[in-house]
Amino acid sequence: MMKQYFEIKEKHPDAILLFRVGDFYETFSDDAIVASEILGITLTKRANGSAQFVELAGFPHHALDTYLPKLVRAGKRVAICDQLEDPKLTKNLVKRGITELVTPGVSINDNILNHKENNFLCAVYSSNSTLFGISLLDVSTGEFLTSEGKKDDIDKLLANFDPKEILVERGKKKKFEETFGPNYLLFELDDWIFTEDAARDRLLTHFQTRNLKGFGVDNLRLGIIASGAIMHYLDLTQHTHISHILSLKRIEEDRFVRLDKFTVRSLELISPMNEGGKSLLDILDKTITPMGSRLLRRWIVFPLKEIQAIEERLNVVENFFREPQLKDLLHRLLSMIGDLERIISKAAVGRISPREVIQLKVALTAIEPIRDTFLASENPGLQAMGKKLDPCPVIRDRIEREIMPDPPMLVNKGRIIKKGVNEELDQLRDIAYSGKDYLLKLQQRESEKTGIPSLKVGFNNVFGYYIEVRHAHKDKVPENWIRKQTLVNAERYITEELKIYEEKILGAEEKILTLEGQLYATLVESLIEYIPPIQMNAAIIAQVDCLLSFAEVSRQNHYIRPEVNDSDVLDIRNGRHPVIEQQLPPDEPFIANDVYLDSNSQQIIIITGPNMAGKSALLRQTALITILAQIGCFIPADSAKIGLVDKIFTRVGASDNISLGESTFMVEMNEAANILNNISSKSLILFDELGRGTSTYDGISLAWAIVEYIHEHPKVHAKTLFATHYHELNEMEKSFKRIKNYNVAIKEVDNKVIFLRKLVPGGSEHSFGIHVARMAGMPQSITKRADAILSEMEQHNRKEGISKPINDFIEKREGYQLSFFQLDDPVLSRVRDEIIHLDVNNLTPIEALNKLNEIKKIV
Ligand code: ADP
Repeated sequence: MMKQYFEIKEKHPDAILLFRVGDFYETFSDDAIVASEILGITLTKRANGSAQFVELAGFPHHALDTYLPKLVRAGKRVAICDQLEDPKLTKNLVKRGITELVTPGVSINDNILNHKENNFLCAVYSSNSTLFGISLLDVSTGEFLTSEGKKDDIDKLLANFDPKEILVERGKKKKFEETFGPNYLLFELDDWIFTEDAARDRLLTHFQTRNLKGFGVDNLRLGIIASGAIMHYLDLTQHTHISHILSLKRIEEDRFVRLDKFTVRSLELISPMNEGGKSLLDILDKTITPMGSRLLRRWIVFPLKEIQAIEERLNVVENFFREPQLKDLLHRLLSMIGDLERIISKAAVGRISPREVIQLKVALTAIEPIRDTFLASENPGLQAMGKKLDPCPVIRDRIEREIMPDPPMLVNKGRIIKKGVNEELDQLRDIAYSGKDYLLKLQQRESEKTGIPSLKVGFNNVFGYYIEVRHAHKDKVPENWIRKQTLVNAERYITEELKIYEEKILGAEEKILTLEGQLYATLVESLIEYIPPIQMNAAIIAQVDCLLSFAEVSRQNHYIRPEVNDSDVLDIRNGRHPVIEQQLPPDEPFIANDVYLDSNSQQIIIITGPNMAGKSALLRQTALITILAQIGCFIPADSAKIGLVDKIFTRVGASDNISLGESTFMVEMNEAANILNNISSKSLILFDELGRGTSTYDGISLAWAIVEYIHEHPKVHAKTLFATHYHELNEMEKSFKRIKNYNVAIKEVDNKVIFLRKLVPGGSEHSFGIHVARMAGMPQSITKRADAILSEMEQHNRKEGISKPINDFIEKREGYQLSFFQLDDPVLSRVRDEIIHLDVNNLTPIEALNKLNEIKKIV
């Protein structure tokens, strides 16, 4: 057996092999050590011939559903090796083979999957490291996506889809980690799989099409290669029933607002940065179905850019918002639907349980009144959705007719198929379950016929069924009865009828199970035909669920409908932070604020104020309100005009990236560069304490230079909010016309700071660190001393100027070009002399070029 084990293990060296031995799944050697650690099961040793001892750890086969998810969640690949024949039927070693390879990215097991999240398997391919192809598949829902892009695009997709496993070319693991970071679970596949021919072939075979044009991905060569790799991986992991993967969709990134992964993280869109905190998703998620909850995640990180699509969503939300009765009805119906999307996938892979089939019927039953209501609605969005819903009455009624209303989870338990579906099954059941009745009737009948009152029907293991007649009545026994056994005072017979009955009843139970299994399998097979309409139902229900959730949140939290338009203006009146306002203690009201930005008069706002004043909150709420509006949700404000935004960039003065090993400064520069290279006039940029990680001068200079760059960009006027505690930056307002100073107001009473949290025009005079320290309960002796040092330094500065460099810089900026001619550098002074002595008016273009060349040589 161990030889067999090692042969199988050799084929899957990177997976933990669960090896079925009798009623147990066993692991051996290193696998056993790992499994015992993860699962907390006992590790033992067993003699193994010449190889001395081998480690061993196992668990009972019926506990697979408990242990398998633990291994997979720990990031392990698990190969399940089963006995392929009945051990009772063979004298030799039982045949065994891998029946399934479960990996974190390929799983349909309910215990492994989180119903609120997609479980994506991903493949990434690049031939030159500048352009990448990516493919994503959630085998539990059948969603299959692809795209191509540069590193940043792929980075963003990886962050947003959060794949559980990524396939790369053999030998490219390290390269991938250098490019996209070390936080992904990678698996290497052979190079030949990552070729266009192999990929196209595999995809065309699956989709049964001649080319991939119909999917709109035919020209995505790298995306196709990655998608092919995913298909090959399904073969490798023995996932062959995949008829629910109906199409390969292109991720149309240009349709959505671009949010890089830092922005998604620092705006806490999906998960909070601090434990115990809340994300935007937490606030918005009042979805009822798992599909809705999965879609909501997607919507939040992919806000829309097209007015019409946004308006369609807003119209439906408004409709739900205004019609509480409709909302209640939908609430009730949606709670009947369950995870329709994953249930139908399970039908495709042949793993749907009888209880899930009933759930499918319940869902289809609920969809009918939803469809009817939508079709009768005046709202075009609801009508359109209604048209796409299909309660699939034929299959729904068939399930109703054939499957018992409360069937077991497992098929092999029987009691699945209703009476009246199959005659043979009904007869078998009659025999098996009403056997006693039948025999009693037979006994009565025969007794009357023969006139033997004491005639009895009985059963024993040796002779089976018999009719027993006391010797006294022996003569009345009909001739065609066959004698089986003679006792002291009775004779036992068998009749033709009893013999047939015996044959029937003796295999009945087993036959019932087999027949029920067959009938069930036929039903499941016929579900496959309904995969497309049911997937469509699931998709529509997910949307309805999200929109209903928006309406619910909007009502509970007093949101209003935003006006979205194509202008470059962002005009939010009395806006609130959707997450913070939910978290404040009841006696602390959230202070609403106006924010206005446009590309002409107020492109950049510098917001100063002490720590804790509410600067970050204001920045974030502006972005969050914009995102809410563009995903089609109402917003926390009194009114708002949102000129659609195409990109949102956030840069938060970081300390959290240090752990990655890059210096903070480098990280800041990288990200700032990324932002600056990608902005448009429709972009919204948030800088929160940029430069905090470096020394004051560095920080201020960097911040200054970046703001200046954004302002001075010849064509692009990106809207920018810049929060800083460097009040020195207020100087910029004087020199740049579209920069405006604001501050988050505070009041000083008796040397204490009271936060008013109101955004008011104007800059700040000085920093407030000491006040904050006082508030935080720092000993008085320290804060007093700090006050003294500060005033000393301020006086000193007035003479020498700690902010002298920045003041100099400001002054020089006015005469920026002159400063070149003031330099004492000997080389530069030669250049200066050359230029000063040029007679520009009498220079031909060629001479000018030659002169320039000479000057260049000097430098
Ligand atoms: P800063 O960025 O200026 O240091 P934050 O924006 O982090 O300050 O705000 C500090 C705290 O003040 C937040 O955690 C929040 O609880 C509270 N806060 C911020 N803005 C408001 C507001 N408008 N109304 C009420 N509380 C607020």
